[in-house]
Amino acid sequence: MPYQSTNPYNGEILMTFNESSDEQLDRAIATAETCFQVWRGRSFSERAAIVAKAAAIMRARVDEFARPVTLEMGKLFREARGEVLLSADIMEYYAKNAERFLAPLQLKPDTGKAEIESSPLGVLFGVEPWNFPYYQLARFAAPNLMAGNVVMVKHAGCVPQCALAFEKLWLEAGAPAGAYTNLQISYDQVNRVIDDPRIKGVALTGGVEAARSVAGRAGQNLKKSTMELGGSDAFIVLEDADLDKTVQWAVWGKMNNTGQGCVAAKRFIVVEELADSFLAKFQTALEALIPGDPMHEATTLGPLSTGAALVKLLDQVERAVAQGATLVMGGSRIDRPGAFMQPTILTDITPENPAFREEFFGPVALFFRVKNENEAVLLANQSDFGLGGSVFTADVARGKRLASRIDTGMMFINAPTWTAPDLPFGGIKNSGYGRELASQGIQEFVNKKLVRIAP
Ligand code: NAP
Repeated sequence: MPYQSTNPYNGEILMTFNESSDEQLDRAIATAETCFQVWRGRSFSERAAIVAKAAAIMRARVDEFARPVTLEMGKLFREARGEVLLSADIMEYYAKNAERFLAPLQLKPDTGKAEIESSPLGVLFGVEPWNFPYYQLARFAAPNLMAGNVVMVKHAGCVPQCALAFEKLWLEAGAPAGAYTNLQISYDQVNRVIDDPRIKGVALTGGVEAARSVAGRAGQNLKKSTMELGGSDAFIVLEDADLDKTVQWAVWGKMNNTGQGCVAAKRFIVVEELADSFLAKFQTALEALIPGDPMHEATTLGPLSTGAALVKLLDQVERAVAQGATLVMGGSRIDRPGAFMQPTILTDITPENPAFREEFFGPVALFFRVKNENEAVLLANQSDFGLGGSVFTADVARGKRLASRIDTGMMFINAPTWTAPDLPFGGIKNSGYGRELASQGIQEFVNKKLVRIAP
């Protein structure tokens, strides 16, 4: 069943949903198109009132919104609450700043006058992943609604309750029908939507395979797209780093969302001097995590999102070991019901090992020992991905120099890669193209129209 809510903590099926028919889908697109003609004419302050109201509703009812996140994809409840609040932050941020970001830009031509106006494109289509079921939607919907576009979203099949809660939120906040539309559709229908001339732009957050299909289709239709894809972020530790703080960040960077983050720290690259002590402390900290019900406060290790995700990760670890990697800890499912994976550390991963180039989406850390910072940079850049990365050092200037040499869309110094409404988010290489969030995010789907006044 493509749209099914299943609790990965115990395997209980909570709800199932049917896909829309082509007729229902066409009607939804027509409603969105009609809505756009009205919505584009609304002032920034009118749109902002609705977007800010949606934020306020999420903030006021944080537990109600967080609950289906934990039940559908296993995120620890306190992290789910954090995600709801972060989503509200993003909506407030765009409600407050969109008009300034999209203000006409006065040019200084040699003669006469000219300006660049930012006008909305129309109905946009987003394809979104389950791992941050609201945050992903908020960072697509909020800037684009503020820009005067309307959005339709195909959310991941395993989080249908979150998808519906977010759609309902907009109606409750006063948005007209068609401003935000949730679509429960098949992959074929995804293509149908992309082909539809009423759709003016396409955004996907997900894996490389989905991106090839969706970006390829958008390209065939000559439609602008943004692709926010996976990563294999390097977490680089230099010899002058504060070890205890760095290990705390390593645990957070790896284990937040049970390791299921595009910018989760995935490759731990540590210089020789600190390698043994880092590894020992990191292992001790991971061993102390407590698996259990993600709704409970005492639980520090939740299940993976689905049983299928667990099977895939176990298979990746098994193949890595078969190709010569060493298992420092973990490597198996936890002996209890639910999709629980042991925190795992792999080392001795050669460039020939498939693990060297794969994204491990879960509590699996790849550990590398290097001689010095130059080796760290070389290794960090030996990746098909280029999303985020981090450097830990007592010398911030040194950290910045190193960050400049790493081929990714985002580098953090003395913290793992993370996100905020005012920080542009996105990658290069197989991590995709385009940016979400900050001023950059709202510029992706607007027409930068030149208006020239003759001299
Ligand atoms: P996924 O399998 O690519 O799914 C993402 C979305 O694409 C889902 O809605 C999925 O629908 C849909 N989809 C998949 N294949 C498709 C196809 N051929 N045609 C049309 N739609 C298709 O990725 P995931 O496993 O859910 O999410 C994890 C991936 O997303 C990781 O690689 C992660 O790093 C990346 N990610 C990136 C960012 C970022 O901002 N860069 C943020 C979060 C996650 P169904 O669920 O119905 O299959």
